[in-house]
Amino acid sequence: MRAPEPYTSSAVVGHFIGGRTVASSSGRSQDVYNPATGAVARQVALASVAEVDAAVASAQAAFADWAATPPIRRARIMFQFLELMNRHRDTLAAMITSEHGKVFTDAQGEISRGIDIIEFACGIPQLLKGDYTEQVSTGIDNWTMRQPLGVVAGITPFNFPCMVPCWMYPVALMAGNTFVLKPSERDPSASLFMADLLRQAGLPDGVFNVVQGDKVAVDRLLEHPDVRALSFVGSTPIAQYIYERGAHFGKRVQALGGAKNHMVVMPDADLERAVDALIGAAYGSAGERCMAISVAVLVGDVADRIVPLLAARAKALKIANGLELDAEMGPVVNRQALERIEGYIAEGVREGASLVVDGRGCRVAGHESGFFTGGTLFDHVLPSMRIYREEIFGPVLACVRVRDFAEAVDLINAHEFGNGVSCFTSDGHVAREFARRIEVGMVGINVPIPVPMAWHGFGGWKKSLFGDMHAYGEEGVRFYTRQKSVMQRWPESTPKGAEFVMPTAK
Ligand code: NAD
Repeated sequence: MRAPEPYTSSAVVGHFIGGRTVASSSGRSQDVYNPATGAVARQVALASVAEVDAAVASAQAAFADWAATPPIRRARIMFQFLELMNRHRDTLAAMITSEHGKVFTDAQGEISRGIDIIEFACGIPQLLKGDYTEQVSTGIDNWTMRQPLGVVAGITPFNFPCMVPCWMYPVALMAGNTFVLKPSERDPSASLFMADLLRQAGLPDGVFNVVQGDKVAVDRLLEHPDVRALSFVGSTPIAQYIYERGAHFGKRVQALGGAKNHMVVMPDADLERAVDALIGAAYGSAGERCMAISVAVLVGDVADRIVPLLAARAKALKIANGLELDAEMGPVVNRQALERIEGYIAEGVREGASLVVDGRGCRVAGHESGFFTGGTLFDHVLPSMRIYREEIFGPVLACVRVRDFAEAVDLINAHEFGNGVSCFTSDGHVAREFARRIEVGMVGINVPIPVPMAWHGFGGWKKSLFGDMHAYGEEGVRFYTRQKSVMQRWPESTPKGAEFVMPTAK
């Protein structure tokens, strides 16, 4: 594989409204960093209420024609977009690495998972097929159909600037809605790049819009009477806020929140595979994945055998600028994240956990101002400690020792988050019981990061998801449509007069 071209544009990242990029008029902006160098690379505009209103107005104006466009014609545009995403995958991946920090191959991976959903959305004619019952009563047929909602909005986090928006807009657009995306202000460029590819694919102006911004933009989307539904992915406090405010304004809301994902290692697990899985899932993307494993639950005697192996691997991680193709871990997203993560490590030490590998103070030659922290490993972590209870969102793995399988299940079920979980074992009965009894939305058996495929839908339980429906898959189609039931009669006889009893089958 060739080293990718670095993404160097220093232009201010603006909005995309009515089919074209729009410079900001709000007078507000924010720095966007290259996390590997620690330098400010560009600025992102922060939208005003008027700019959000302009994006919603553009989406509202485009809605009627787009909703009336036959699904198969909408799908043909999505097929063109799919082709463009595949063609420009590496440009987009380099852009993501330069703003997020994740290694280039990982950025390619997130784009592939986004493309999976674009492919799924291309099947919309099949997905929108309704139900039909002939002759529910004599001479009457009944059918149900699903219709789009109108203007829908997506508010997305920094950690997957391509994949998470792709959880939302391909399905929303194909279902006949128009869309306003408010991406993370920390890595905004990917959203404009995708907007331009949608334009090139032939999407009509106004159907897809991007507003860059912060709380001002989010609050306006929550309040705006023409926004019918909101999809949110981010931290739990903001997810809960979006869910409650959205409900207050009568909107349909799905709000995916934070996580603390556990991986159970049973004494009969294949240790080599379990170590590979833990190292990749805890330190990949510097732990900035909502499905990262941040707790290893070590059952019985497995702890004494596995902790030294994990320590050796954590110390040997190749940490570098993500554009270097042999890098295993890049920097974290910004200085505040670095300070938060290293603050949690100090807190773990203060609380009495054993610090086996200390990633603090990591320096990468030639990148001395980059936001790097090494892989950190704690042992003897207790459920009462903050490093166990709270989401750190960095490359910190906490090992908790438990006596047996039942204690592992109780521990996980008592945690407030329920996004992803994994169990490594060679016992089929244990695996089956684990999947049945665990109170978590996405479960892996000998799979560390069980992100469901495009047609299965993604969502956690408990404080990891507010709302009823998971993202993408058929749940996504349901979220972005509403059901209408039609009953039809074409009488051949003369009218019999009004009926005052509940209609029943005749
Ligand atoms: P975040 O909650 O800080 O930001 C998410 C979005 O909300 C951004 O677009 C941001 O601009 C906006 N926002 C931030 N503060 C706001 C406020 N006070 N009012 C209104 N809007 C606000 O999250 P982040 O740091 O970008 O992303 C990391 C978090 O996202 C982690 O908690 C991670 O677990 C979570 N996440 C969850 C999933 C999932 O599927 N459950 C997936 C990815 C990330």
